[in-house]
Amino acid sequence: MAAKRHALLGALLASVFPASLVESAAPPAPAVAEEPVLRVVILGSGTPVPSRTQAGTAILVQAGGDTLLFDCGRGCTTRLAQVDPALLPKIDRLFVTHLHSDHVVGIPDLWLNGWMQGRAGPLRVWGPKGSDAMMAGLRRAFAADIGYRRADGIPANDAGIAPAVSVVRRDGVVYRSSDLQVTAFAVKHGDVPAFGYRIDKGAHSVLISGDTAATPALARYGQGVDVALVEVASPPMAAYVRRSFSAEQAKKILDLHLSAEEAGDALAAMRPGLAVYYHSVTGEAADAALLAATRRRYAGRMEVGRDLMAIEVHADRVVVDPVD
Ligand SMILES: [Zn+2]
Repeated sequence: MAAKRHALLGALLASVFPASLVESAAPPAPAVAEEPVLRVVILGSGTPVPSRTQAGTAILVQAGGDTLLFDCGRGCTTRLAQVDPALLPKIDRLFVTHLHSDHVVGIPDLWLNGWMQGRAGPLRVWGPKGSDAMMAGLRRAFAADIGYRRADGIPANDAGIAPAVSVVRRDGVVYRSSDLQVTAFAVKHGDVPAFGYRIDKGAHSVLISGDTAATPALARYGQGVDVALVEVASPPMAAYVRRSFSAEQAKKILDLHLSAEEAGDALAAMRPGLAVYYHSVTGEAADAALLAATRRRYAGRMEVGRDLMAIEVHADRVVVDPVD
């Protein structure tokens, strides 16, 4: 965009001034696109409710040679293929926020299909207590399929199907790779053990809230991050819950999540470079209602996440590719 503006300005000035005077007004565009420090792709921005446009929660974070996945909801592998068909077998690090099914129901396909497509090492999974039992259960559930494929020797390796679970029990760094680190922090999601994650690469950072109600952990771990991905129950989502469940059930569900106002308060305390909402039903009217409610509490830069929206953190700026 900036390059386009410069070109336009250059053409305009060239029609008025001689070229020798104009050249300095239009800096040349960089020859090679600069690699971002961190690249975040929202694979799934949706809720437990199946949708034509929103897959279940899944967020891809790419940083240099590291490719990390946070949650693996419905449709995760399809969205991965949309980003890059070669990605699936490369995904071998999965960080799970909590064990509600809309965050993990895509794991069997990621785990089994990634192995079939060529992953030669285990899918390493970090997640709250119960993650080890879930992965062991999947192994039992898919024992027949694993047995058939092993008998055929396709794939030829056994390591790709081996379990590798690290149970996250408390706040702290759970993963390190050169200058990249992932920190888990406990959030508040009723009685469900649940974590958010913060990813740091050099001086840059991204926070993923996971599912949470209002908690001081967001301000503590999200202070000044470049990008904060924050869950929210938008006003239309809250209205849907109130319509679809008893008053008591609806209260229980909505108490698990941030209202737009609570999310706005959390963002005002965090002051991220860019805030991105996810885990909510999107659409023109829904987004307008969500932003209007948030704007009463928070004035910073923000986006409503969409499936396949890519966010690039560069040394000096954050760029959003909104997909459409
Ligand atoms: Zn949840």
